Order: sequence, then structure tokens, then C-alpha cells
Amino acid sequence: MAVSGFVAQLNPCIDELSDIKTAVSEAVTNAIVHGYREKMGNVELIMKIYKDRILSVTVRDRGCGIENIEKAMEPLFTTGVDEERAGLGFTVMESFMDTVKVHSTVGKGTTVTLVKRLRIKG
Ligand code: ATP
Ligand code: MG
Repeated sequence: MAVSGFVAQLNPCIDELSDIKTAVSEAVTNAIVHGYREKMGNVELIMKIYKDRILSVTVRDRGCGIENIEKAMEPLFTTGVDEERAGLGFTVMESFMDTVKVHSTVGKGTTVTLVKRLRIKG
């Protein structure tokens, strides 16, 4: 995954790298299975590093958007009942990252920004 290579420059701990990969993969999966349920499109990944080892990963789709973000982020909430989804993607992102911010407009798409401050190895 591209994110591993990017994060490598921060020399992350194994558990941090694995948490980041899992969180980003949940966001990308959501963009594909939910955002682009009706049509195909691009998923944009913007990765940045700020001072004090703060990593930010933004996952953006131009898909259907989310009507009620607060509800969508509740544990076990899913619109994917037919696909037997657990409704735990956002919960996983929130537990593995420091902050998860979601911006979404119905019909325009969704942007999920994941931020985590990495430890200093020692
Ligand atoms: P799981 O991630 O456990 O397989 P899930 O994807 O349904 O199940 P979440 O990742 O927590 O659970 O997402 C909750 C709900 O938010 C989704 O069911 C979907 O309705 C909505 N959602 C999430 N991401 C997007 C997106 N990028 N575009 C549109 N809807 C989304
Ligand atoms: Mg999901």
C-alpha cells in the first residue's frame, strides 16, 4: 500500500504502521463500496507530514456522499446490510488514529481526514 512507503520516512513502530494501514484501508474501502456504489470514479489519497511527527492522510471520493455523518459514524451503523457489513469501519478508524474528520455532500462526495501523531522510537 502506498501509505506504507510514505510513512516509512517517519520510521514508525510496527504497530503504528499496521494501525495506519488498517485505518486508511477502511476509508478507501468505504469510498469504493459506498461512495461509488452507483458509478465508477477516482479515490484520491493525500498524505502529509507536519512537525512533531504528525501524519495526515486524506481519502477523497466524488461519489454519492453521506446524508447523516453523525449517524454514519456510530458503531454498528451500516447501509450495507445485504453485503453483511459490520458497520465498524469508522469505529476502527477512530480507535487507530488520533482524529477522524469527515466532510461530505450528498451527490458530490466524501472526504475523510485521518490524523495521527507518531511516537518517537526508543
Ligand atoms: P464495515 O466498514 O464494517 O465493512 P460499513 O462500511 O457499513 O461496514 P463504516 O465503514 O463504519 O461501516 O461506514 C458506515 C456507513 O457510512 C456506511 O454503511 C455507509 O452508509 C456510510 N459511508 C461510509 N463511507 C462512505 C463514503 N465514502 N461514501 C458514502 N457513504 C459512506
Ligand atoms: Mg466500512
